[in-house]
Formats: sequence, structure tokens, C-alpha cells
Amino acid sequence: MNLRGPLNRPINVVVLGATGSIGQQTLDVIDRNPSRLRLFGLTEGRRSTRRQADYLVQGQAGDVDFDTQVEAMVTDPRCDIVVVAIPGARALAPTMAALTAGKEVALATKEVLVMAGDLVMRAAGERGIRPVDSEHSAIWQCLWGERRESVRRLIVTASGGPFWAHPDLDLDQVSVEQALNHPRWSMGPKITVDSATLMNKGLEVIEAHHLFAIPLDRVTVCVHPQSVVHSLVEFVDGSLKAQLGRPDMRLPISVALFYPERLPDAVPPTPIEELSGLEFYALDEERFPSVRLAREAAAAGQGRPAVLNAANEEAVGAFLAREIPFSGIVRTVEQALAAFPGGGDTLQDILEADRWAREYVRDKSGSLKTK
Ligand code: MG
Repeated sequence: MNLRGPLNRPINVVVLGATGSIGQQTLDVIDRNPSRLRLFGLTEGRRSTRRQADYLVQGQAGDVDFDTQVEAMVTDPRCDIVVVAIPGARALAPTMAALTAGKEVALATKEVLVMAGDLVMRAAGERGIRPVDSEHSAIWQCLWGERRESVRRLIVTASGGPFWAHPDLDLDQVSVEQALNHPRWSMGPKITVDSATLMNKGLEVIEAHHLFAIPLDRVTVCVHPQSVVHSLVEFVDGSLKAQLGRPDMRLPISVALFYPERLPDAVPPTPIEELSGLEFYALDEERFPSVRLAREAAAAGQGRPAVLNAANEEAVGAFLAREIPFSGIVRTVEQALAAFPGGGDTLQDILEADRWAREYVRDKSGSLKTK
């Protein structure tokens, strides 16, 4: 659907998770384009955005009252597009509600696809999902006008996070403050810790696999510390296509909101003369096993991606609460995956796997604390 074509009014945008980093930047894009975008509805967590909209839903996703109000908002016939930026697994239910109502979804919350990629993509059908994750937006843009059978592999770039460039650093000893000090991007705490463990890339491999229907073994990762090349696609003829620019999430947000158009001056241009010294390195999967773990969990299926995701969310929470060491995050995810008895692939099974993993980690993090 071309949102501009049949509409003689601004696009009505719903922002789920308006107080987070992506939510705030989405509001910024809306504010800068009042003739083309209108804030139709939003959800806020603990903080207030002091915004006027047709719908304002406050509280926590997962609470019955909140979810009911969100469902009414995203299924309203006047809503054109839903930006999903609620962090973590709680974004699954509202995403499914929007897709089932036939809405366009711009997805920032990769956990939704990690947990239930098959179900979500089936609900999205022909129109697909518009990625807001910078790497996936890059791949999406590289794929415009290309045939799927022309793709050899996707190359997801990783900044490496704060610890990749310091191989002598003891990952048992790094502090919460060190993990939250990301060298390139300013983001929420969960994704910043995921960038430091490289679990963010593991989740992004699964995300790319579902978004673009490319087999897992053809989604690869390379470390690119400058974060200028946002990702690449390699084609069967040997050519590489990349999307480049300064790190700025307002670009992928604008691409998702205005597709298939491009918004003039969405971000300041990147002077090509400044792009010297771009580096690319293979990922050391021994020091950072997250990508391998994610790939294995997704290949095995049967609720394991949901276990990976939920165990990671809980373990990151325990690290941020200073209950477990940094290295305990990935160790905990690995242990949860090894202990998981296996489930099924229905939504019910996935939610059960999610619940199982959270309980497992909460029981476990007490004992890890003393290690
Ligand atoms: Mg990303």
C-alpha cells in the first residue's frame, strides 16, 4: 500500500513505546513533518511525553487493561501505521494485533521476530514488515528492486560494542557503566548491553532470516567498528551492495514511515570525503559465542528462539541489577537453552517457552551471584 496515494490527509501514526529512544526519535520525525505525519496514538511507560493524540495509553505492556486499550488503538480504522518500539517480548501481542487488523507495521523490537518470526511473518502476509533496526533497514534498501533468487548472502555489520576492541579485558570484571558506554550509538540500556555481549547480532541474524526469508546459514556477521556501513547484501554475480551513512536512527525510521518514498533531508548528508578508513573484521565467535548460540537456537526451533530471547532479557536485567557478572549473561542463556526440554511452535508454545526461560533464569541468577 502506498500510504500517500489514496490519502488526502497526513499519515496517522501510532507509536508503541513513545518514551523510549526509538519512540522519542519517531516523535521527532513526526514533529518535523506535520503536513505528512500525524501522531494518532501512543503508549507511554513510567514517564509522560505530554503529547496530544486521539489515543493515549499509559502503563506496561502485558497488563490486561493496557493490552485491551492498545488493541482498540491499533485496530481503529483511522490508524495507518504502527511503529512498534516497546522493548522486549511484551511487544509481541500488540504487534500481532496490528498485523491481524491489516495495518502496516514498522518494527523496532527485534525480539518479536526472534520469538515468533514464522507466526509474525505469516500474519504480515504479502505486505511484510518494515524494519526499523538500522542493519535491517539497510538490507531492505539494498533489496529494493532485486529478486530474492539473486541474493547469495546477507552481511549484518556489528560495531563490536565497547569490549570487542579490548581482547585483554576480563569479561567477568566489567561494570554496568562500562557495558552501557557504547562507542557509536546512543540507545536504551537493554540493547546497549546486548551490543556489548554481541547477543544483539545473534538476535539480528534471526530477525534478518525472518524478515527477508533467507536461510540462517546465509545470514553472516562482520565487525565494522565505524558503524557507517549499516549492512550489505552479496548477490550471486559477486557484487556487493551496501547502505551507508552516519549513525542516526531517524533515517531508518523515516525510510519505514515513508516507504516507498524517500523523505527529503531526513538526516544531514554524509560527506563522502569523511569516509576514509572503514574497517571490517571477522567476528571472534569463541570470545563472543552469542551469534552461534542464536543461530543454533533458531535452527532447532520448537520454542528455543523464545528461550534464547527470554533468558537473555532476564539475564541482562540481572546484570543491570548487579546480580550477575557481565560474562554470566551469555553463560545463563547457554545454560537455559541446554536445560530446555523443547516445546512446539504455536503461539501458546512460544509463550510457554518464554515463561519457562524467565523462571529458569530467576531461579538461577541467585546462585550465579555467588560465583
Ligand atoms: Mg541493529
